[in-house]
Amino acid sequence: MKALVINSGSSSLKFQLLDMDNESVLASGLVERIGDAEGNIKCTFHPDTEKESVVKKTLPIPTHTVAGQMVVDLLTDKEHGVLADKSEVGVIGHRVVHGGENFSKTTLLNDAAIAALEDTVPLAPLHNTANLDGIRIAQELFPGVPQVGVFDTAFHQTLPPHAFRYAIPKDLYEKDRIRRYGFHGTSHKYVVGECAKLCGIDVDKINAITVHLGNGGSITAVENGKSVDTSMGFTPLQGLVMGTRSGDIDPSVHAFLARNHQMSCDEIDNMLNKESGLKGLCGLNDMRDIHAAIEKGDKDAELALAVQTYRTKKYIGAYMAVLGRVDAIVFTAGIGENDDIVREMSLAGLENFGIILDTKINAQRVKTPTLLSTPESKVQIWCIPTNEELAIAREAVALVSK
Ligand code: AMP
Repeated sequence: MKALVINSGSSSLKFQLLDMDNESVLASGLVERIGDAEGNIKCTFHPDTEKESVVKKTLPIPTHTVAGQMVVDLLTDKEHGVLADKSEVGVIGHRVVHGGENFSKTTLLNDAAIAALEDTVPLAPLHNTANLDGIRIAQELFPGVPQVGVFDTAFHQTLPPHAFRYAIPKDLYEKDRIRRYGFHGTSHKYVVGECAKLCGIDVDKINAITVHLGNGGSITAVENGKSVDTSMGFTPLQGLVMGTRSGDIDPSVHAFLARNHQMSCDEIDNMLNKESGLKGLCGLNDMRDIHAAIEKGDKDAELALAVQTYRTKKYIGAYMAVLGRVDAIVFTAGIGENDDIVREMSLAGLENFGIILDTKINAQRVKTPTLLSTPESKVQIWCIPTNEELAIAREAVALVSK
């Protein structure tokens, strides 16, 4: 079966077409700057194979509907031959950011599910509106093809109330649904599944701490294969220090800024989401640039790395306490997969907890799942590349094949 994965953003549309008979990627691409005077579309056919070819175009792309049609035209284009006809697509999997409390698992997007999804829009107005646009357009372009929603929050719907409730007046939970939701669930679930296979443990028996460190970052405590706590909260702002997001911060800072700097809610929100994190600390949000700056003696960059890895270590310690027994710690995403220094600093000094990194193996650049701990380490340490598109396609195919 061929599966199309769609991630529709406010001005972008990411897509991947997979042949799920052998889990190969037939085409992968991105439409950007939808609605601007000039937009971009890029599609790679048969990526990472001998047949790889790339098509890039710059032209006005006024709406998501136009973007969707361009994607269909590219995928059915005779020259590249990945689809003879769009009817070959057997299922469409949509990445949906926020499922609120309505969605605890991958769901077929029928009229009732779409209505329930509309209900979650206040929780993530920008993201979920864009995701809904993507779903509606895919319904028009692929009539009759099952559309499946895979939710970033779903994996964390197993959090117990003592982990997901905030200590604020009860009404705010009951009426406004203010609670911890957690995000990156598709990635956490995928890497814990891969880790269980590699460790030879049943996925419903594994206890693990999954550390997703990319431009956004979150960490999850997984007990018997289920998420029991996670660092992101009501929104993806809470938790770890990220590229441009502050992560945990005393909530009183908001009131201080409003009173003393006359900042509006939107200005504070923007500052904490777009101007903080690593960028706020040192002016740089890409970890590669931060390492280059440290080499040149930049003290702010050095501090940014220290704050980021110290926060990650604190969460690892907290989740050791939450879980009691931990079989594995898994690093994934852009920084987690590539940055040996971040991994080493995040685990430094945890040897007494049975967490012993093999620094030589850790320093090697790896592209495939790799065990990074020494044989004596009680806790296995893994680097496992995440693959959210494959995870979404697998979930979508599994649902429609039931
Ligand atoms: P992601 O959001 O998972 O795509 O991760 C993107 C982030 O990963 C970038 O902003 C970088 O900070 C980081 N990154 C990517 N490649 C490397 C690398 N080779 N070394 C260190 N950090 C990296």
